[in-house]
Amino acid sequence: MLYCDAATFCRRRNDAGIMTDETGRRCAQESIDIIIMKNNYNYLFIIKIILITYLKIDNHTQKQTMGKLKAFMEVPRLEAGYRPIHDRIQDFGEVEQTLNTHDRKMQASRCMDCGVPFCHWACPLGNKAPEWNDALYKGDWELAYRLLNATNDFPEFTGRICPALCEKACVLNLTDHAPVTNREDEAAITEAAWRENYIKPQTYERNGKTVAVIGAGPAGLVAANRLNKMGYSVTVFEKNEAAGGLLRYGIPNFKLNKTVIDRRLALLKEEGIVFKYNTPIEENALPEGFDAYVISTGTPVARDLKAPGRELKGVHFALELLSQQNRVLAGMEFSKEDRVTAKGKDVLVIGGGDTGSDCIGTSHRQGCKSVTQIEIMPKPVEGPDDPNNPWPNYPRVLKTTSSHEEGCTRRWNINTLEFIGKNGRLTGVKVQPIDWKPNPEGGRPIMIEAGEPEIIKCEICFLAMGFLKPQHAEQPSNVFICGDAQNGASLVVRAMASGRDAAKKVDAYIKSLA
Ligand SMILES: Cc1cc2nc3c(=O)[nH]c(=O)nc-3n(C[C@H](O)[C@H](O)[C@H](O)COP(=O)(O)OP(=O)(O)OC[C@H]3O[C@@H](n4cnc5c(N)ncnc54)[C@H](O)[C@@H]3O)c2cc1C
Ligand code: SF4
Repeated sequence: MLYCDAATFCRRRNDAGIMTDETGRRCAQESIDIIIMKNNYNYLFIIKIILITYLKIDNHTQKQTMGKLKAFMEVPRLEAGYRPIHDRIQDFGEVEQTLNTHDRKMQASRCMDCGVPFCHWACPLGNKAPEWNDALYKGDWELAYRLLNATNDFPEFTGRICPALCEKACVLNLTDHAPVTNREDEAAITEAAWRENYIKPQTYERNGKTVAVIGAGPAGLVAANRLNKMGYSVTVFEKNEAAGGLLRYGIPNFKLNKTVIDRRLALLKEEGIVFKYNTPIEENALPEGFDAYVISTGTPVARDLKAPGRELKGVHFALELLSQQNRVLAGMEFSKEDRVTAKGKDVLVIGGGDTGSDCIGTSHRQGCKSVTQIEIMPKPVEGPDDPNNPWPNYPRVLKTTSSHEEGCTRRWNINTLEFIGKNGRLTGVKVQPIDWKPNPEGGRPIMIEAGEPEIIKCEICFLAMGFLKPQHAEQPSNVFICGDAQNGASLVVRAMASGRDAAKKVDAYIKSLA
């Protein structure tokens, strides 16, 4: 038995730091090999031989598990990249391309199978990237999918839209700023699994207990999937006309094609989950007759900007644009009066985050004249490293998305003063450059004026300033809240992890009654 106190979050040790002989040997072995290979320290071979001779650390396990030992030094990171701008802004098809099979496997081979895999630590789902990357490199796509699916219920979603916290924590990001392409590998593995029919409907023995899931976003879908597999009879209540939550009615099709959601839903239904659409459920009036409840209703209230002129026609919440556009692409029709469109207009997006970026890409595809995006906070640091949040944490650095690349004026430290209009319609937004100075009493910095007010001409403006964290009344012991409804607006991968936890808690609760 070996003991490790070097890392508190390694998958190869238990909470007490105990490692099995095999994983412990492998860990020591890898660390040495990596140092030798990167630095050409031949004298380390002597230490290695001593270890092999006296501590019986050998190459055996490593040879079996790590496919291409020096690939991370020989194969550069290669991203599939996006479709050319002139092509992609003509339609709402997914912008991201794919690599051919050979290149994909070579990318997977770059994984060093680190002794302490920080990718695994950084992924909220605890995805075991070293394991499935290795299977992918060796061409065992089915094994790669099984390993991936063990922790990730729907890797076809995260493979497309996860910001890949794992890649920022990859050791190759620390050393070379060229992490393993985990997210793309994940998408490729999952598409192969669908294509090759590795994903088939399963039958699960029922345990006679029932669970209601309220809200069919990623959190609710994962909870439903896990509980269904455990034998519970699951009914999902969803207020919208279809499932997916923000995957379907927030994230644009050019990032996530909705057929990807439909394909998974068809499987979940075939496996026995019942979906009831157009059925809003109030938290204080849950449907009767279920043994337990999962509330996964997301963050329904967007943050508003109560400046004068807010009522003008042309000022919209981001989701009014995004959800309607996704519905239009699904075949729904809207009157000219109700249609939210940027066609032929100068667009202003207030809010510098990802939702704002989705408004930019959508506006381009609708045929806008121009887009400006303003943000009240300072411009984030440029470059790969964030000195305030160093590796392996996710760096809060300037992010340029595919939508930004399509054309956009971006400004920071800009405060919104007033919406200006004529005959009830928006014609511009009065803004002012500001700055932030430290608060002598601590806490939030103080905003100060840093320039003259000016008017940004626009006929349509989207408010993309985040969502309010929901408050919940105290719930009975058989009710479990998860996803954004529990944590506030976050990421799909975190919502999925939270849905998985909720399913575990439901199971433990029901078993505790037996
Ligand atoms: C525009 C936009 C783009 C985003 N892009 C990304 C991205 O690229 N990558 C990423 O990781 N994250 C992204 N996010 C965040 C991500 O979408 C959310 O964190 C995630 O969807 C939260 O999942 P959830 O299941 O908790 O909630 P939601 O996805 O919000 O789902 C909640 C569901 O509950 C339903 N519901 C609500 N109230 C009721 C009720 N009373 N009765 C019945 N049903 C109800 C809703 O209709 C919805 O279907 C984005 C968010 C937005 C807004
Ligand atoms: S879900 Fe996201 S963080 Fe986790 S392995 Fe996949 S890309 Fe990385």
